[in-house]
Amino acid sequence: ILMMRKETPDIVKNYVEKINIAGNHLLELVNTILDFAKLEAGKIEMKPQRVNIKEILQEVYSIILPLVQQKGLTFEYPKESSFTIYADPKLIKEVFLNLLSNAVKFTPSGGKVWIDINFSKEENAYVFSVCDTGIGIKREDIPKIFSPFTQLENPMQKSTKGTGLGLAITKRIVELHKGKIWVQSEYGKGTCFFFSIPVTKEIEYFEVVISQSGFAKNILILEDYSFDIQLF
Ligand code: ADP
Repeated sequence: ILMMRKETPDIVKNYVEKINIAGNHLLELVNTILDFAKLEAGKIEMKPQRVNIKEILQEVYSIILPLVQQKGLTFEYPKESSFTIYADPKLIKEVFLNLLSNAVKFTPSGGKVWIDINFSKEENAYVFSVCDTGIGIKREDIPKIFSPFTQLENPMQKSTKGTGLGLAITKRIVELHKGKIWVQSEYGKGTCFFFSIPVTKEIEYFEVVISQSGFAKNILILEDYSFDIQLF
């Protein structure tokens, strides 16, 4: 209200703006702590559904892009990937956003952040990775980072905001989906976080997307069980 009123002097508007920023920051902190408490208490309601990874990545991209641009980083993700996973879209977005916001936070300007997708036959799971060319994590620190309230000593820690809860929350969400999370990092070079989301019996179909400009005329699909094929 103060911001909107014409008679508020500019100097006061300046202070109000600061109160607003601090208020939003506090709200973020409270929400993170509440999320963690709910997960710990087993009170997070997971609503898994069939969801296309393309939709998730597009949303994540639009949220993270301003942060990436602000910091002068480049960001890449597999835009063409289109397949179904069985997961809670809100929670999976949170996993991507937690990992990406760390990647952005701990990568100096001019660096690169990217997402990759692979499939693990042994685990029958999709494996997603969020990587950066940032400051990296020392080998001896790696076992600590998934513990709640852990923040490592590093040159960028003081200038960044955080609670040390992001990775603890992320790990719990991945485990709720019966997946795993792990990290590979080289100090001074960069970090890759990996997480897997298993293919479950709920995904009885898969999608093959062929771009219209392609020349494919014949498609051979080999499968070891019978299923319906729908062509659109
Ligand atoms: P925070 O709120 O501090 O980001 P997290 O649980 O998300 O908490 O991360 C814990 C700590 O792990 C961070 O404070 C940072 O020291 C380290 N870390 C996480 N991601 C990265 C990364 N991509 N590169 C370097 N260090 C990282």
